Amino acid sequence: MKVAVYPGSFDPITYGHMDIAKRALKVFDRLIILISINPSKKTMFTPEERVEMVKEALKPCIDKIEVVISNELSVKATKQLGATHLIRGLRAMTDFEYEFQLTHTNRVIEKEIDSVFFMTDNKYSFLSSTTVKEIALFKGELGPFVPDFIEKIIKEKLNY
Ligand code: ADP
Repeated sequence: MKVAVYPGSFDPITYGHMDIAKRALKVFDRLIILISINPSKKTMFTPEERVEMVKEALKPCIDKIEVVISNELSVKATKQLGATHLIRGLRAMTDFEYEFQLTHTNRVIEKEIDSVFFMTDNKYSFLSSTTVKEIALFKGELGPFVPDFIEKIIKEKLNY
């Protein structure tokens, strides 16, 4: 069985993340979504809230998905969880630069864990959780970027 880990902040999960997860499931039998706790990043949602949102957003394929919280390096967690590959999403060249560095660093740490990159549907190629949160701060509509239930949770959190 081919198992991959898809790590990220998922703060919150967007249609871009969902698109990557679905593409990865066409190649891998199981996907472990790793909600990374990164103390250097200020998040809108707790790790537990993010887990619940990921599970709900990916409900149609949840039988092939596990969602876990981790405060380890993603590549180390990938090995410990018995997976062989790390999934990452690519939007634009700017992502490439960062991912290039990260992949080579990860190889130094765990040389047998390889990274696999998927490109999102073009309509999500500009989308990030950060953009969603910025739009939300200005009380904008989030319908094109996140599922309705997440838009509702964000609006409740920010009282609008
Ligand atoms: P991180 O803090 O690791 O960047 P994110 O949750 O922002 O966490 O992203 C996790 C992964 O998902 C990264 O590989 C990122 O490039 C990818 N990703 C996020 N949004 C999109 C999108 N709209 N299209 C494709 N990949 C995406």
